[in-house]
Amino acid sequence: LNIVDTDLIKMTGEVIGLFQNKKSDAHLQVDLEFPDDLDAAPAPVDREALRQILWNLLNNAREAMPDADGAGRIRVSIARTDAQTQWRISVEDNGPGIPAPQLERIFEPFFTTKETGTGLGLATIHRLIKQHDGRIHAAQSDDLGGARFDIEFPVATSLS
Ligand code: ADP
Ligand code: MG
Repeated sequence: LNIVDTDLIKMTGEVIGLFQNKKSDAHLQVDLEFPDDLDAAPAPVDREALRQILWNLLNNAREAMPDADGAGRIRVSIARTDAQTQWRISVEDNGPGIPAPQLERIFEPFFTTKETGTGLGLATIHRLIKQHDGRIHAAQSDDLGGARFDIEFPVATSLS
């Protein structure tokens, strides 16, 4: 890994921009939210790895949504954790969500519920996040009703 201090807000915005360009879909809305008083979120990360992590989560959210009936929503939010020691990036969607029995298995290599899925996306990003001393957690999105992935990274040492 090539670890450099990176602004998570800027990088997340860039990945969302690319995602919207490539997967253009008038029915899909992607929002990025962060606290008003936060103008940067510096963290020591490998930029290629971070792009891959965000891209995978956005892509999974989009793939979970029913194609036809419009109004897909993805919300990405960035904030400090309660303990202030980590950044938390949450990716939530309004798809069908992940049934509880599957929540335990989605990070296993080759676990997929898709006909043409590889089941490697989440296993790969799980490994990348662990290499950053971070963590990833999947749950139900209370606000949007679909899946929610929380990823946490240590803040840059200049901040901690
Ligand atoms: P793949 O996308 O190839 O199936 P992943 O490792 O990326 O493999 O995801 C594993 C499984 O986790 C998916 O097949 C799906 O069942 C579930 N999953 C991941 N993200 C979501 C999501 N946002 N909504 C619903 N299910 C999801
Ligand atoms: Mg995937």
